[in-house]
Amino acid sequence: MNIHEYQAKHLLQEYGVRVPRGYAATNPLEVETALSNLGDDMIVVKAQIHAGGRGKGTFTDGYKGGVKVVKTAEAAREVANRMLGNTLVTAQTGPEGRKVQTLYLTEGCDIEHEYYLAIVLDRETAQSVIIASTEGGMDIEEVADQTPEKLIRVPVSPTMGLRSHQCRQVAFALGFEGEKVKQFGRILMGVYKMFWEKNAMLVEINPLVTDKNGNLSALDAKVSFDGNAIFQHTDIEKLRDLNEEDPKEIEASKHDLAYIALDGDIACMVNGAGLAMATMDIIQSFGGSPANFLDVGGGASEAQVTAAFKIILSDPNVKGILVNIFGGIMKCDVIANGIVAAAKNVDMTIPLVVRLEGTNVEAGKNILRESGVALTPADSLAQAAEIIVEQVKNAG
Ligand code: GDP
Ligand code: MN
Repeated sequence: MNIHEYQAKHLLQEYGVRVPRGYAATNPLEVETALSNLGDDMIVVKAQIHAGGRGKGTFTDGYKGGVKVVKTAEAAREVANRMLGNTLVTAQTGPEGRKVQTLYLTEGCDIEHEYYLAIVLDRETAQSVIIASTEGGMDIEEVADQTPEKLIRVPVSPTMGLRSHQCRQVAFALGFEGEKVKQFGRILMGVYKMFWEKNAMLVEINPLVTDKNGNLSALDAKVSFDGNAIFQHTDIEKLRDLNEEDPKEIEASKHDLAYIALDGDIACMVNGAGLAMATMDIIQSFGGSPANFLDVGGGASEAQVTAAFKIILSDPNVKGILVNIFGGIMKCDVIANGIVAAAKNVDMTIPLVVRLEGTNVEAGKNILRESGVALTPADSLAQAAEIIVEQVKNAG
């Protein structure tokens, strides 16, 4: 689960990290309140969307920049007017962009230098890793790609936790001296504590800046939490912004379906994550392109199968459906009944290929055959994929 920059900064502040004073605003009235709190001074107006690269982004009406530094309240008001309700396209949003429904107005900062600091979960080593660089502000992927020697990586043992010598190690590698080493150490300890206590998978500060007064502060922040641990953190769960999520994924989560939208045209309905991955792969290998990942789970009910069909069909890109179910915990005849009932319940106008395997498979196939539902049964996964790819090609 992701949160907005302004929410991430509030959290960081609770963990002792200095952030510029700021106010979120979702309408012109709240913009006015923010401006009266900030005064007639240097102000930064920032579009709040769950995507990075806002500074270099462009709105769909041609207006440039989702992060603007201005010198007066009047200028900030004008910028806010242009941004609110406008759609921002960045390198991370895809061409359709994101509608800006919240702004964050902060006091400006005289930047001396921009650093990069993040803690991420490294699944390979099952540890968290500190990643830092003197090359902050810009695209960190570019730094990793072109000058990987400028990335500092320090793994943190989950049993030992972050040690103060590791903080000094990173501080020295970033070139900090004297009081700044201590200041940076406090920040890194705070960020790590937050990462650990809130079950985050990523806490990224880009840029972390030094200013003319010798202070270090977080000017931008991105935090992702482990969705499976959110139930332990009701305070974090409240920060969820459904405006930023795919409505199909929100609907799927209500029915306990593991669904992720992709940009292909063949929808898959599969039980089991491994089988779902294999199904997506085999669609690809026959020259097709999956429209989604969908795991209906080992014991999917008829209601869940119906919900899954509805979600799949609400995607205008979907040109065909491949159902690939292994009857293990659930028997194939039960699944077949579920598929037939669901297919009748929704308006099925596109090709549907069903492959069943496992317990009671013959009974299941009979139900499908006699159902009167327009579908093509298949005997193997390869055959099923080949047929659906062919049918979608012929239909389009
Ligand atoms: P991003 O483009 O989505 O990563 O948004 P950021 O919040 O990181 O802002 C982009 C860039 O705007 C930063 O890297 C800074 O260079 C600049 N910026 C942001 N806030 C300030 C500020 O208070 N003062 C100045 N001078 N520049 C800022
Ligand atoms: Mn940034």
